[in-house]
Amino acid sequence: MTSPVTTPKETFLADYKQPDFLIDNVNLHFDLDPQHTKVISTLSVHKNPNTETADCVLDGEQLELVSVKINGRLLQGNEYLRTDKQLLISAVPEQFDLEIVTIIHPDKNTALEGLYYSGSLLCTQCEAEGFRRITYYPDRPDVMAVFTVTIAADKAAWPIMLANGNLAEQGVFEDGRHWVRWHDPHPKPSYLFALVAGDLYVQQDSFTTMSGREVKLEIFVDHENSHKCDHALMSLKQAMLWDEKTYGREYDLDVFMIVAVNDFNMGAMENKGLNIFNAACVLASPETATDNDYYTIQSIVGHEYFHNWSGNRVTCRDWFQLSLKEGFTVLRDQQFSSDLNSAAVQRIADVNQLRSMQFAEDAGPMAHPVRPASFIEISNFYTVTIYEKGAEVVGMIKTIVGAEGFRKGTDLYFKRHDGQAVTTDDFVTAIEDATKVDLTQFRRWYSQAGTPVVAVKTHYDHAKEVFSLTLSQTCPATPDQAEKQPFHIPVALGLLDADGNAMPLQLKGENLAALSNTIVLSLTEAEQTFTFVNVESSPVPSLLRGFSAPVRLDAIRTSSELAFLMANDSDSFNRWDAGQQLFINVLLGLVSAMKKDVELAVPHILVEQIESVLEDADTDPALVAKMLSIPSENYLAAQMQPADVDAIHRAREFLKTTLAKKFKKQFSAIYQYLNEQKKAYAFNADDMAKRSLKNTCLSFLMASNDPMQTQRCLKQMKDADNMTDLLAGLSLMADQKGPEAEHALRAFYEQWQHDRQVVDKWLTVQALSKQSDTLLRVKGLMKHPAFSMKNPNNVRAVIGQFCRNNPINFHAKDGSGYAFLAEQIIVLDKLNPQVASRQLGAFNSWQQYDADRQAMIKKALNNIASQKGLSPDVYEVVTKYLAAGE
Ligand SMILES: [Zn+2]
Repeated sequence: MTSPVTTPKETFLADYKQPDFLIDNVNLHFDLDPQHTKVISTLSVHKNPNTETADCVLDGEQLELVSVKINGRLLQGNEYLRTDKQLLISAVPEQFDLEIVTIIHPDKNTALEGLYYSGSLLCTQCEAEGFRRITYYPDRPDVMAVFTVTIAADKAAWPIMLANGNLAEQGVFEDGRHWVRWHDPHPKPSYLFALVAGDLYVQQDSFTTMSGREVKLEIFVDHENSHKCDHALMSLKQAMLWDEKTYGREYDLDVFMIVAVNDFNMGAMENKGLNIFNAACVLASPETATDNDYYTIQSIVGHEYFHNWSGNRVTCRDWFQLSLKEGFTVLRDQQFSSDLNSAAVQRIADVNQLRSMQFAEDAGPMAHPVRPASFIEISNFYTVTIYEKGAEVVGMIKTIVGAEGFRKGTDLYFKRHDGQAVTTDDFVTAIEDATKVDLTQFRRWYSQAGTPVVAVKTHYDHAKEVFSLTLSQTCPATPDQAEKQPFHIPVALGLLDADGNAMPLQLKGENLAALSNTIVLSLTEAEQTFTFVNVESSPVPSLLRGFSAPVRLDAIRTSSELAFLMANDSDSFNRWDAGQQLFINVLLGLVSAMKKDVELAVPHILVEQIESVLEDADTDPALVAKMLSIPSENYLAAQMQPADVDAIHRAREFLKTTLAKKFKKQFSAIYQYLNEQKKAYAFNADDMAKRSLKNTCLSFLMASNDPMQTQRCLKQMKDADNMTDLLAGLSLMADQKGPEAEHALRAFYEQWQHDRQVVDKWLTVQALSKQSDTLLRVKGLMKHPAFSMKNPNNVRAVIGQFCRNNPINFHAKDGSGYAFLAEQIIVLDKLNPQVASRQLGAFNSWQQYDADRQAMIKKALNNIASQKGLSPDVYEVVTKYLAAGE
């Protein structure tokens, strides 16, 4: 196999060493120009007393070096050594001032790391290792310094110039150029550095903190988006207040700024005082953004804001500790969304994502622990494991020590480590010290990859009124680890009697029953039996309530037991979960019936349950909409070995159509009722729930194959005053063939072609169409003027959605989907390695398909691997995928 020019090196956690040199102050001076920006960096450097080396090594990539001075003396070329990644200066004093001048070219930067040009904007992205593309620097998170940044540029072209911290000074040169100076008093690592310049609209507001300080809030966007800032500003104020109330965290600068950028690799970035956002994660108006967009914006604005403490004030020692800031901050944003909206809906969404994406990652070639032991390219580790499983791990700590103990623990953590770069272990130790709970075994969640499987056996002794529950745990081997030690798994549990009432929970050896209807068992051994006494009748256990641990439950539950839990469990999450498991049982049954050529039928027990779910439409529309959502084809594929893509698709369609026809009257009545209730768009949990249920009903009605329903769908689109209803209609139309669908798509584009966020939605609905010619359409869209390979949002909307969320077409029998993805990866890798590597993730579960498909995917992977000069990003992933097939 051809490797990149030099084979990329692997970095190991075990090799961590303290930095040899530390920086107290950084003075940066930028002469901005998209083609040719000059950067003068002046560092006050001192040697780390704990280390030996006298060589000062700085990171730097794709830089033109102009000069190096130590204490004002210009160094000659033979006084330092330069490679394509580093600058090495030997025999430096214990303490010195270092001045480095470099030239960079933002307009040539398509990787979107460092300083780059987006539209008419200059902006930065430095996490994880982008700062080294701006100047030579010890670009690692454990070097924290105080930054002062001066920016100079032509005033007409760059009226707004921003950096971290507070605005210190500004002025105008004689030649008409202007300059600004920003000072950030809080020491920070280079990955949190940010700069933005451009002609932008600003919307302002303010927030008074818990100690009475007034903070200026500013959102900067393109002028054409000036009407789309209200929601993000409101979300920011909600987040600031929530963090004070929930975690006692107060904001610490005079100003908090958010900038919307069109070309951005990630969702958003928490740079100190100057958050930079993917425009799609900040801009919203009812006509252009869906409920889902509103929800996501609120959550991401919260997430980035919360980083001010969990990430910025206390940061990571090294990138293996990435989950220190991300796992904890995701948990914080999940709590925030849950408190502001519906707790049940939030938990269901979180678990859905975890199961469909993180479990797949854990089961695939890229499996890694929440704290990985090694990596080639850190950008590949911004994963669902680090983020979502990391959040589950912190959430389990909270479950184990209780909410009050957790708050004590986080208070101690912030106090003890403010201004430091620390490890996940330091976090756990702080919680232990504050609560005196021993989390030694629990720490295995950070070092062991893989999804544990918890098997359940129960026994009820009627004469003694004793119920025993035997739980055993195993964890499948992952490429990095064959053997796993038992985890500490918190299992939340309740017991229900035959009428569905909660039963008292008294463990053997305890004098009294628990006060609550749910208790948390600690499963710490490979196998453990929990015995409950005074259990008057045979109970139905409700296990893993609220999904108390990120595990797979291996419990043999009959359809009638699942139906019983679906109807009676007091834990909303488990009601939903029982329904999902029932759906899965039914769908897998349909798949095997198809193979045996037996006539397909939907079991009566499911029909009955759906009927009673529909009766609750009035009382809990949000949960009903969730309960009616059939598990995705991808999730079903993960339940089968080998996954039969075509049968899964047909089974799912059959089930949906059958239910749609059977309950057409109910769906129609609920739809009509909710549609008549419609009022002016507002983003709140109630209205959102109603729109969600209404559009779920519409999707069933459309599945009934009744032409009248198409008219209903078109009417909804015509009458819609918000993007949620309009887009729901359009995606249903895009699944259909014929002139009406084509006309709807054309009309939508004509109306919205001026709006990038809406055009991305238009691209997505087409990439997700179930029509068999979708790949052709996708290829056509990539030639459309609205599409650019250089724009990550476009790439995700078309290539990403098609390959990840359109399984029936991506996994087409002829392998055309696979060949398509390989071609795109090869092109993208030259432009933007991070985005290329991310798209490659669509091949993650390649070994779960049949032999023919595996052979075709392997060919596609080999095609990518044989390219000359692959980026470390793509090299690492493609190598691991191929190694898994050997
Ligand atoms: Zn984050």
